Amino acid sequence: MDAREAALRQAQGHAVRWLASLHDRRVPARASVDEIVRALGADLPDAPSPPADVVDLLAAACEPGLTAFPGGRFYGFVVGGAEPAALAADWLVSAWDQNCVMRAASPACAAVEEVAGAWLLDLLGLPDAGAVGFTTGATMANFTCLAAGRDAVLRRVGWDVARDGLTGGPGVRVIAGEDRHMAVDLALRYLGLGRPELVAADGQGRMDPAALRRALAAGGQRPTLVVLQAGDIHSGAFDPFTETIGAAREADAWVHVDGAFGLWAAASPRYAHLTAGCADADSWATDAHKTLNVPYDCGLALVRDPSALRAAMGLRGDYLIQDEQGDPVDKVPELSRRGRAFTVWAALRSLGRSGVAELVERLCRHAAAFAAGLAGTEGATVLNDVVFTQVCAEFGDDGRTERVLARLLDDGTAWISGSTWRGRRVMRVSVSNWSTTDEDVARTLAAIRRAAAGA
Ligand SMILES: *Cc1c(COP(=O)(O)O)cnc(C)c1O
Repeated sequence: MDAREAALRQAQGHAVRWLASLHDRRVPARASVDEIVRALGADLPDAPSPPADVVDLLAAACEPGLTAFPGGRFYGFVVGGAEPAALAADWLVSAWDQNCVMRAASPACAAVEEVAGAWLLDLLGLPDAGAVGFTTGATMANFTCLAAGRDAVLRRVGWDVARDGLTGGPGVRVIAGEDRHMAVDLALRYLGLGRPELVAADGQGRMDPAALRRALAAGGQRPTLVVLQAGDIHSGAFDPFTETIGAAREADAWVHVDGAFGLWAAASPRYAHLTAGCADADSWATDAHKTLNVPYDCGLALVRDPSALRAAMGLRGDYLIQDEQGDPVDKVPELSRRGRAFTVWAALRSLGRSGVAELVERLCRHAAAFAAGLAGTEGATVLNDVVFTQVCAEFGDDGRTERVLARLLDDGTAWISGSTWRGRRVMRVSVSNWSTTDEDVARTLAAIRRAAAGA
């Protein structure tokens, strides 16, 4: 066995032991950053070390500082886990080490993007001629889609951003719902578009279509982007797409949907109604590393008009062997990058259409079980309409909610984040992991009751 193979075998052993520990380990990490820093070693060694030893050292140093994100009882943020086929494919991606820049350089990368992209558009009910870019996450997927939109609306009034930039141009108006995700603001900031104008939302965070109409009418005819949302991180709510997209169309705006975890509702016959009308937008951002449960990092930028995406992201380089059909590099901000589509192909091939639908429905079923269990917990109130995977609850007052959250984290059975929603501190449960079972939900509810009893 050579040194490389020895290192890979050690890594496999550590990976399998880590995954096997998830059922029973504490969800929060046991060690602090400082402790892990010390364990990793302060000084850069002078001499080389055998790769297998390095892998062992890394695993031993980091293990106490790992959070059980991929386990069934992590409900903080919206994180997803790693489906077995996707995780195994990710190991291959590292071993293959392909640069997914051009068709000519890695036919396998281009092919897997083509097949996975077509499957995604089909599954999510989006236009089959659309383009799919594989980004690092939904923040960059929002960035990529909004770049395509920004350039397209300016092109309509004769302004070429790629050549002339934004300075001195006619400007772009951006309208978003008041409960949009902060990633949208970040993307707009990177794009030189500043803060969006905000449109009022209802109690669940859904944009008010009448308010959008008024905002559009008040602005006159200017290049405009409208940003909608499929899946509010607190309530799980979806914007009313038919009315909002109708209004935006009349104003000739580019409509973009941030559906980082919620867009996947479209893949389930039972939940597809939540995304009704959404397919009429111009672009959609989502994550494969959330609801689809592929490992980090994998976001998806989906754009109706492939030429708009290519105009914003495409490049020409004298030393590149470029393809008339467009290359993977023409759909994302990066040049060199790993093959992100391999894990998506593997997850979709492994689950199939019915498996993805069942995954979405299972996450929603667990969220409903959390809502029912919380409603039956002394002093707890569920604050949102639980339509998808998100549940927000409070425990009487902000102070008590904080104490319950702190006691729960201390207990270690599960991880649930706190947040502020509608002016109150809340416990926010996000169900996003494929491996969560009924038993995980029951164990977590029991832990919440223990935490609440003493708080
Ligand atoms: C998670 C999330 C994002 C950001 O996605 P990343 O993959 O973390 O970049 C954007 N919007 C919504 C609604 C999200 O839930």
